[in-house]
Amino acid sequence: VIRCGAAVAWAVGKPLSVEEVEVAPPKAGEVHVKIVATGICCTDEHLLEGCLPDADFPVIPGHEGAGIVKSVGEGVTSVKPDNTHTHKYTPRIQLSNQVLLGSTFRACPERGTQHGMCIIPGDKVIPLCLPQCGECSFCLNPKSNYCLKSHVSEPQNLLPDKTSRFTCKGKRIHHFLWVSTFAEYTGILEYAVAKIDAAAPLDKVCLLGCEFSTGYGTAINTTKAPTCTVFGIGGVGLSVVMGCKAAAASRIIAVDINKDKFARAKELGATDGISPWDFKKPIEEVLTEMTGYGVDDSFEVIGHADTMAAALASCNINTGICVMVGVPASGSAISVDPMLLLCGHTWKGTLLRGWKMRDFIPKLVSSYLEKKFNSDLLLTHTLPIAKVNEGFELLCAGK
Ligand code: NAD
Ligand code: ZN
Ligand code: ZN
Repeated sequence: VIRCGAAVAWAVGKPLSVEEVEVAPPKAGEVHVKIVATGICCTDEHLLEGCLPDADFPVIPGHEGAGIVKSVGEGVTSVKPDNTHTHKYTPRIQLSNQVLLGSTFRACPERGTQHGMCIIPGDKVIPLCLPQCGECSFCLNPKSNYCLKSHVSEPQNLLPDKTSRFTCKGKRIHHFLWVSTFAEYTGILEYAVAKIDAAAPLDKVCLLGCEFSTGYGTAINTTKAPTCTVFGIGGVGLSVVMGCKAAAASRIIAVDINKDKFARAKELGATDGISPWDFKKPIEEVLTEMTGYGVDDSFEVIGHADTMAAALASCNINTGICVMVGVPASGSAISVDPMLLLCGHTWKGTLLRGWKMRDFIPKLVSSYLEKKFNSDLLLTHTLPIAKVNEGFELLCAGK
């Protein structure tokens, strides 16, 4: 058992409290990760506000971290935790033809095990808030990233054996998205970590665990068209702006009620910044007038039903694509004119851009190291975990 610090949310709406927690040793198929750095994503704030379905308290939040494997449970190293093992993990994505065929991991010739499983203490990893078991029918489907052995398909804030690895003051503490990165040490399923390049700076690449991958990836995956609009330019929305720019969009309109955000959005590629509060007419009408027939692609990165409907209505009625990225509060409903869809619009949502996380995160880290993008531009503040509540205050104040 490890005793370490963690930020615990005891109840909805209460500030986090940094406590000493006990972390039970990893069971079979699990790893212990020493978290070196973690980001704050708005989904953590949704959790603290009580907006997520099936969230149980007390809980250790955090789902966007990076760390080092401290120990592994039975079956994880598969052979033995020998540090002499020199086999280099090759991220699957580099074998793109095989990825397309849908086989997720290939055999490791040295260990007689699977590549993705060659995790040993000392490895740098990014915990995956969307796991990839590599075996379920969704993992085997090249088009899907919705692992059936995940907290998404089986909602719970305990690990799959219905127990928690965390206790504090004699109480069971729940996991969040099976990763809980606001703990100094966290217990994670082996198939919910991605091993990354040993050269990666963990304080920087932690952002690839959620916000940057989602935003940037969604945009480069969607945008092939000249005009885009991004509703909500927090960390994820700014990543969408960067992705639209990388995809060579010529007009990128940032929509936010916080106009202080526009300067940064423009530095990252936005061409216009508009606030719905500056207009009497609905923002979708403003966007349609600005672009003639509506934007080609719109991204909703806030999580409100009304901005989701506005993002859909802002697109070109025939060829427009609207992607919902923001996480709505549980129980939200949207009312939509069906004619919008009948006319050809595409309306879709995304979970982590559709990446199969265990395959793609190592590749994304390599691209970061090759300076193919600069996610460091999203970093605004660095704080010790003791000031985690200050971090949430900054997020909520739009800083
Ligand atoms: P954030 O709080 O940093 O940014 C939200 C932005 O929206 C802010 O700039 C805010 O001023 C703006 N905003 C709020 N209400 C608005 C309104 N009515 N009109 C215009 N702008 C408004 O949040 P974030 O961390 O960037 O996350 C954004 C959303 O993405 C959250 O809902 C989060 O849960 C979700 N998310 C989804 C995924 C996914 O895989 N789909 C992954 C990560 C985050
Ligand atoms: Zn997130
Ligand atoms: Zn799976």
